[in-house]
Amino acid sequence: MYIDGSWIEAAGRKSFPSINPASGQQLGTVADGGETDAVHAVDAADRAFVSWSRTTAYQRADFLYRAYSIMMAELESLASVMVEEQGKPLRAARNEVKYAADFLLWFAEEAKRVYGRTIPSARPDQRFIVDRRPIGVVGAITPWNYPISMITRKVAPAVAAGCTVVVKPAEATPLCAQAVFRVFAKAGFPAGVVNLVTALDPEPVGKVLVEDSRVKKITFTGSTEVGRRLYSRAALGIKRVSLELGGHAPFIVCGDADPVHAAKGLVLVKYLNTGQACISPNRIYVQQEMIGPFVAELEKRVGSMRAGSGFDEGVSIGPLVNEKALEKVKSQVDDAVAKGASVICGGSRIMEKGLDRGFFYAPTVLLNVTAEMKIYSEETFGPVAPVIVYDKEEDLLEMANDTSYGLAAYVYTNNLKKAFAMFEGLRFGIIGINDINPTSAAAPFGGMKESGVGREGAMEGIEEYLETKLGGFSI
Ligand code: ADP
Repeated sequence: MYIDGSWIEAAGRKSFPSINPASGQQLGTVADGGETDAVHAVDAADRAFVSWSRTTAYQRADFLYRAYSIMMAELESLASVMVEEQGKPLRAARNEVKYAADFLLWFAEEAKRVYGRTIPSARPDQRFIVDRRPIGVVGAITPWNYPISMITRKVAPAVAAGCTVVVKPAEATPLCAQAVFRVFAKAGFPAGVVNLVTALDPEPVGKVLVEDSRVKKITFTGSTEVGRRLYSRAALGIKRVSLELGGHAPFIVCGDADPVHAAKGLVLVKYLNTGQACISPNRIYVQQEMIGPFVAELEKRVGSMRAGSGFDEGVSIGPLVNEKALEKVKSQVDDAVAKGASVICGGSRIMEKGLDRGFFYAPTVLLNVTAEMKIYSEETFGPVAPVIVYDKEEDLLEMANDTSYGLAAYVYTNNLKKAFAMFEGLRFGIIGINDINPTSAAAPFGGMKESGVGREGAMEGIEEYLETKLGGFSI
């Protein structure tokens, strides 16, 4: 763990293993932190806040610029750790490290653009000044699917705003978190500004972060189920929260779209990270007449995808994170098939020699999926594309919006009027129109409804770590 500027063991000297999901082999061990360690980290962050919050935005930006340069210089080694521990293909891992570094650069710049304002008063002897202040100590809980960029997406805006942070990374990817913190350590952040507590059991560390009154803000990326629990516990302390939770993205192919182009886009976004992304398409609506060419293109592309170790040339499908994830995908596919869906490709765990020890599921396309099937409403988090055949376009918005989630949605159309109607009518925080990668450090990422609270990245990202303070001056 990295606490108060030092790498230390857990208080109880306990440790836990990190496992390679492609081979099931142990990669190493890391400190297994608990309540004592979390309190120690909050102590350090609380002490550091006094001086860090008084630094100038220009000073804070300097640390972030340094961290950005170091991360870019170490891109290859960070990407390798991610391939080993999380399983994504090397090219995707390199892209993620660049994305992670982008947040450091973006918020180095945004730190200097935190503006207050003055407000005219009705009284001639009064002046109003609105100031923006850092919230305080931040507790950040991060997931395993994007194990490097989800840390910088939270830490960069927090420290840019003048906050100090305690990060608890996912138990499946602690080595990635350590690698990011080695970058922070090299960048020379003062002791206590950024702290890392790794733990096998998230509960004791999470409890300290949500209950300790010195922690003023919780920022979380993960499942809706855990997010809901953290939200209700943080409410007792009236803590600020940012939550990036699950999704169930519709992918709509309108009647006027090019079905082959749309199928190509779907394959790129659906199988990214082996479907383990909250913005992954989960319901693919395709008009009756286009099913033929659309599915033929899907079959061709998905059928030629190779699964394997992320280090192997030509591999685009990595393993799922663990056995439990495999089971969930299997149960959704089995349920869909039992209720009448047909399997166009994939549909089972990959058991060929060499891959049988990893958690590989074949890239799958299901046709004739209907609302009665679990996969139509449950988040999948695996490489399965459920295709739904629709007839009338008038029903599309209602069908697409019929979910408690509201993160991402995708639409393929060549009709400008339709594109606007979809953009305005879809109740989702991120809409890709003929675009399958509507994400950037410069663009606000976040969900509506049960997909979350708040936004990350963009100018909105730093707002999440600021309080508004009003000064009324009689002169
Ligand atoms: P997933 O289901 O995708 O693994 P989770 O929501 O379980 O997502 O995990 C996201 C993050 O939340 C991880 O860092 C995990 O350790 C953490 N987490 C899970 N349960 C708790 C909890 N009870 N308290 C605090 N953090 C938790």
